[in-house]
Amino acid sequence: MPELPEVETVRRGLQQFTCNIPIEEVQVLLPRTIDHPDSAVDFAQSLTGLVLTEWQRRGKYLLGVCADQKGQTKGWLGVHLRMTGQLLWLTTPTEQTKHTRVRLLMPNDQELRFVDQRTFGKMWWITVNEDPNRVMGGLGKLGPEPFSPEFSADYLVDRLQRSRRQIKAAILDQTLVAGVGNIYADESLFLSKILPTAVTTALTKNQIATLRGTIIQVLQDSIDAGGTTFSNYLSVAGTNGNYGQSAWVYGRQGQPCRVCGELIVKIKAAGRGTHYCLACQS
Ligand SMILES: [Zn+2]
Repeated sequence: MPELPEVETVRRGLQQFTCNIPIEEVQVLLPRTIDHPDSAVDFAQSLTGLVLTEWQRRGKYLLGVCADQKGQTKGWLGVHLRMTGQLLWLTTPTEQTKHTRVRLLMPNDQELRFVDQRTFGKMWWITVNEDPNRVMGGLGKLGPEPFSPEFSADYLVDRLQRSRRQIKAAILDQTLVAGVGNIYADESLFLSKILPTAVTTALTKNQIATLRGTIIQVLQDSIDAGGTTFSNYLSVAGTNGNYGQSAWVYGRQGQPCRVCGELIVKIKAAGRGTHYCLACQS
């Protein structure tokens, strides 16, 4: 599943390649990909003739700002990749695969194509008179962005000490912090030397401050490396990211810890496969 670093990498690719090119035609091949408006025909008609001027990201949601040819903002193209969604930027005529869901056709055989094998991915057209936080389910409930000042140590201490639960579950809670998924939860807990099953209310302020720092660090390192490879994910330019090879614990069960040599174990925590080092984390 694409996580925040992958989605941010996709956003940067979209920003680089797709902006200020008129959308000449929109083809919706799987209507239920379109979450809003109700009609896929309305979605297609609304976007036709517009240009994307900027791509924003909130958590794992992508928002393409759309303007008319005079530069007046008309609304947003929202995208959530979910499990297997991919946005491909094509510059030569490319045969449609079985899993092609939506095509935005642009001049000179250019195309922004949404491909999604499992079909959980969603797209939205939101007019300037609507509020993306209301139209896009889940967006309005997101907690602070990990790179924002709101995600401070004080904020995290307050939130974690308020409710008693496993720390792994807390980090995955999108209302606590936006966009951290399974991979980066395991990686940041390893770097913080905290057990995934530790109870939030038992953590010290120092531990929580360290955890905040490592969450930001693993996300930034992954963005710098262009995202991970082990999710079914391609950046908008069609290249794989490469965080996967450098993971500390994620996907490394049965292999020696890169720090102490103890074997990495895999358990189930917060309903998810969870990887940690018995020796390094306590
Ligand atoms: Zn270790």
